[in-house]
Amino acid sequence: MIPLPFEYARAATLDDAVAKLAAANGRAKLLAGGHSLVPLMKLRLAEPTVLIDIARIPGLSGIREKDGRIEIGAGTVHHEVASSALLREQCPVVADAAAAIGDPQVRNRGTLGGSLAHADPSADYPAAMLAVDADMHIRGPKGSRTVNATQFFRGLFTVDLAADEILVSVEFSPARASAYAKLYQRASHFAIVGVAAALDASNGTIRSARIGLTGAGPAAIRLTRVEEALAGKPASKEVFATATKDAGAHLQSVTADIHASEQYRRAMIAVFARRALEGAIARM
Ligand SMILES: Cc1cc2nc3c(=O)[nH]c(=O)nc-3n(C[C@H](O)[C@H](O)[C@H](O)COP(=O)(O)OP(=O)(O)OC[C@H]3O[C@@H](n4cnc5c(N)ncnc54)[C@H](O)[C@@H]3O)c2cc1C
Repeated sequence: MIPLPFEYARAATLDDAVAKLAAANGRAKLLAGGHSLVPLMKLRLAEPTVLIDIARIPGLSGIREKDGRIEIGAGTVHHEVASSALLREQCPVVADAAAAIGDPQVRNRGTLGGSLAHADPSADYPAAMLAVDADMHIRGPKGSRTVNATQFFRGLFTVDLAADEILVSVEFSPARASAYAKLYQRASHFAIVGVAAALDASNGTIRSARIGLTGAGPAAIRLTRVEEALAGKPASKEVFATATKDAGAHLQSVTADIHASEQYRRAMIAVFARRALEGAIARM
């Protein structure tokens, strides 16, 4: 289908984008990579009358170290995240998640901010953001605010972001012992199940673990039961196998769709949680 007519405006700066959004009074949508928004417009599931292009705002993209933390601009494309030497060394789970997205065309055009704002229930980044305990920096007409990933993902295609706000960047601490494991949906490459794990371990003992799950419900969640089962235990394959055995079975509800039954997804959550943990510890 063909989208409804719309006006196009390119924002020169972040302030310009905020002003343009406010002026459009709820009728505008930000355009980043366009890989989620444009298909929705063609299906007429989104009908903005103004598109504000934020793809060329200086400073909105890039990966940098900041006071011992890592910051990624919302406009950074998946390929840049996947191939970042800094992330590969200091926080590989985020690079893993980016590398697992779609195909080269999608990874060269789609952005971190677009993916997080869109919040597809099978998107890869949300699980990684939960695992690294990311803070989301947001700008709107009333100023700036920061929301932790645990509060950001609210539900199906729903995040803590108002219509007049822009996700500017995400920030998190390094997590070297981290990895993402994903069961692909063959055609689209979206996650049937995706698990991101980040471990804080020393001398072979796990101090704490953070595990994010995507693809199994309306929004990404943490596997808190597995996290608790791992704290204080040795970082071994046996411990991972025991802690993850019922990871899917314990969840209150799990998605069933044309790609996978609920029972299959529950079984795969256990398998991919174990794989993510094994991948994380291999990087220590
Ligand atoms: C064939 C195909 C395969 C894909 N496979 C995968 C996959 O395997 N895994 C996966 O996770 N994703 C996948 N995707 C989705 C892809 O990652 C998109 O790039 C992403 O979901 C949206 O990013 P975008 O930059 O294209 O955003 P856009 O489409 O431009 O925008 C998406 C939404 O976010 C809003 N938005 C954009 N930037 C901001 C911002 N900075 N602040 C606030 N709101 C903003 C827009 O207004 C819009 O509502 C796939 C997409 C396609 C087309």
